[in-house]
Amino acid sequence: PQYVYRFGGGVSDGGKGDKNLLGGKGANLAEMASIGLPVPPGFTISTAMCARYYEEGEAFPDSLRAEVADGIAHIEGVTGKAFGDPANPLLVSVRSGARVSMPGMMDTVLNLGLNDQTVEGLATVSDDPRFAWDSYRRFIQMYADVVLGLDHDRFEEALEIAKEDRGYFLDTDLTAEDLKALVAEYKGLVEELWDKPFPQDVHDQLWGAVGAVFGSWQSERAKVYRRLNDIPGDWGTAVNVQAMVFGNMGDTSATGVAFTRDPSTGENGYYGEFLINAQGEDVVAGIRTPQYLTRAAREAAGAKPLSMEEAMPEVYAELAGVFDTLERHYRDMQDIEFTVERAKLWMLQTRSGKRTAKAALKIAVDMASEGLITEEQAVARVDPSALDQLLHPTLDPAAARDVLTKGLPASPGAASGKVVFDADTAEKMAAAGEDVILVRVETSPEDIHGMHAAKGILTARGGMTSHAAVVARGMGRPCVSGAGSLSIKGKDGVMRVGDREVQAGEVLTIDGSTGEVMLGAVSTVQPELAGDFGTLMGWADKVRRLKVRTNAETPADCRTAREFGAEGIGLCRTEHMFFDAGRITSVRQMILASDEAGRRAALDKLLPEQRADFAEIFAVMAGLPVTIRLLDPPLHEFLPHEDAEFEEVAKATGLEVEALKRRAGELHEFNPMLGHRGCRLGVTYPEIYEMQARAIFEAAVEVAESSGAAPVPEVMIPLVATAKELELMKAVVDKAAEAVFAEKGRRIEYLVGTMIELPRAALRAGEIAEVGEFFSFGTNDLTQTTLGVSRDDAARFLGVYVEKGIYARDPFVSIDIEGVGELVELAAERGRATRPDIKLGICGEHGGDPASIAFCEKVGLDYVSASPYRVPIARLAAAQAAL
Ligand code: ADP
Ligand code: MG
Ligand code: MG
Repeated sequence: PQYVYRFGGGVSDGGKGDKNLLGGKGANLAEMASIGLPVPPGFTISTAMCARYYEEGEAFPDSLRAEVADGIAHIEGVTGKAFGDPANPLLVSVRSGARVSMPGMMDTVLNLGLNDQTVEGLATVSDDPRFAWDSYRRFIQMYADVVLGLDHDRFEEALEIAKEDRGYFLDTDLTAEDLKALVAEYKGLVEELWDKPFPQDVHDQLWGAVGAVFGSWQSERAKVYRRLNDIPGDWGTAVNVQAMVFGNMGDTSATGVAFTRDPSTGENGYYGEFLINAQGEDVVAGIRTPQYLTRAAREAAGAKPLSMEEAMPEVYAELAGVFDTLERHYRDMQDIEFTVERAKLWMLQTRSGKRTAKAALKIAVDMASEGLITEEQAVARVDPSALDQLLHPTLDPAAARDVLTKGLPASPGAASGKVVFDADTAEKMAAAGEDVILVRVETSPEDIHGMHAAKGILTARGGMTSHAAVVARGMGRPCVSGAGSLSIKGKDGVMRVGDREVQAGEVLTIDGSTGEVMLGAVSTVQPELAGDFGTLMGWADKVRRLKVRTNAETPADCRTAREFGAEGIGLCRTEHMFFDAGRITSVRQMILASDEAGRRAALDKLLPEQRADFAEIFAVMAGLPVTIRLLDPPLHEFLPHEDAEFEEVAKATGLEVEALKRRAGELHEFNPMLGHRGCRLGVTYPEIYEMQARAIFEAAVEVAESSGAAPVPEVMIPLVATAKELELMKAVVDKAAEAVFAEKGRRIEYLVGTMIELPRAALRAGEIAEVGEFFSFGTNDLTQTTLGVSRDDAARFLGVYVEKGIYARDPFVSIDIEGVGELVELAAERGRATRPDIKLGICGEHGGDPASIAFCEKVGLDYVSASPYRVPIARLAAAQAAL
């Protein structure tokens, strides 16, 4: 098989369709070359080689050597330089590149091919000995760090000392002679730390770097990143070997990164940063403060150093042309890396740029209006889960705030939390349920788990394209970067701004949309949901077939959900209403009653309360279907614990505290999840369901009369395993309904149905559908009972299960399509066979998960039901599932 694919110099063995094989970077380099953009020549070793490399025990097959030799010959042919040639040396970069961009992967090695001979040649051909020795110095340092894994700090120290000894301030103050001495010192360091001399053979250098790229696929960093982002371990990475171009050849050279539109706001304008006389990742590493790309951006920021538009107008104009070409070609916003070598522009990377949810919406809507993409493509473009970022509150503009300092608005949204200075602590505190803000001088891939755990990220260094900024935007975490006035002493657990001090554990608020950093918590307001959001959701609603309902039981939640576009309630859990302060005593009285008369006395007190609850909900949901689940949880969840609570119940009932305690003890269950709960409560104490049904119908009639918009109650019986259970419970509900209709002299439409949340119910769905008029798949319990896994105890092992690939994703987050999904499919089929018009929905947590929604579309359910804040996500996911 072929493993090496060339690009550049008029050749492109691959293209943008080959991401799986060539990785994103390799595929797009080939694509750019094929549409005539200036790309330094190179070749890609495919991802297939990565798997092969591990199969062979971390070694390369012989056939690869010949292919790589051809690849090098290709680069030599195009550049007219030769690899390892002391007279005119070819230098290359070795770059990792998986299908999707992965910060956990190996860092790029630049300037590979330099040794004690070729450095002299480079000095001669470039006419610049300083540049040659600086390149060699950088190469040894990078190679030692990235490929050999030697202690990076030792090299940094040596560099610092070299400057200090000579009284210099900047790296660029070092002369060729100084750098030559530093190179000697670096080589000594390599020998000391590695026990072997720095490799002088350029081919050894190359294979070492290629091996390091493949090796980094299994690094801890990469594994963590894959786990957090659901990236399969068998994808592998590709390796790109490419002729070097030099942005560090003086004042007509530069390196930069850019977006074709603003990745934060989506504004249609070029956006980026660059540095004159710099190489590689100097821009993102925050070593010097980068300069703006456009004059407008520089002026808006009030910055002095000239923008690229001003400093290099001709190259800038060419670059702007490339941006337009790329956007028209890819029909998406691009994230670009480029280098200018002595006024000649070179493209080093392009990819669809990561963006905030706000930018994703704006760009999708704008591009559809510009005619670049269709409305349906726009709908397909936006990641539904990302909408979450937009739906959550932002800082209240009117709230008082104590602004500590200001940094760059690197990732929008507001967050408050306790200050934490390292990623591990952030993760620990978040696991314990605390909100934290991770504060770092700058972040690196080792911090990813902490960034994920944090509510927000604050850094002292780094620009808008720094690691912290890019990763935070990808994760949807608010981030303020480059807050230069912060002095962070993480080890001492303190940071300072001027004469103010903030200790670890104190609360900070950051606003990633303005860059403000505030002491203490600042209150928030709901976001505006008009504009691009409304436009895109409108397009989504045109394509989707699935209806979207919400899981809600308070009028406030119902209102939020309606604003977000809910088309009814899919799950109203009545038990939550029982916990209210005023009624818990009556609920306890009902539970602890020793006979039906005692229970009825308590239920009579609860009836008006429940009726009022339902009336309010029906009023908010005017005319829309409302599925109400009758009492479900094990009764002992409501039991009193404190003596004072028992005394209160004793007072209400006239019973002895001791007797009540005995009765409470009798209610103890060994496995309440499978105990006396769900319809088993209704079977044993029908009066409970009778009261609830009465409350529902009295409220429904009342609202129908007062508002004219008759609600459509769908009474749902939980935890049914057999048709007989449902039959008995339906009789109780129907009887209550008839009684109410007779009393009020008015009928309303209603349905009685059941949750399908036990495997037996799914299997016997045909029979159950003879009684039930709708099914709602309660996939939380169905997952527990099908997998035999208790959700509350799963945390201890489920993570390992997902890591080992036993389940691809947490089955409580994303439905287990093969197992639980098969039961859903089968129940839907059997239910429809009995009752063709049976209404089918899903009300588990899965109703808000895009992958699970796609499954619901496939099975042909009528609706999904999600928590209020996930309703828009479900609408968009349902549209995408229908496309
Ligand atoms: P990452 O995936 O971390 O972005 P890249 O492989 O894109 O890593 O390399 C990082 C940077 O190194 C690039 O943005 C570019 O500035 C520099 N670089 C990579 N290859 C070359 C090259 N052939 N010539 C000059 N600079 C390069
Ligand atoms: Mg990198
Ligand atoms: Mg890159």
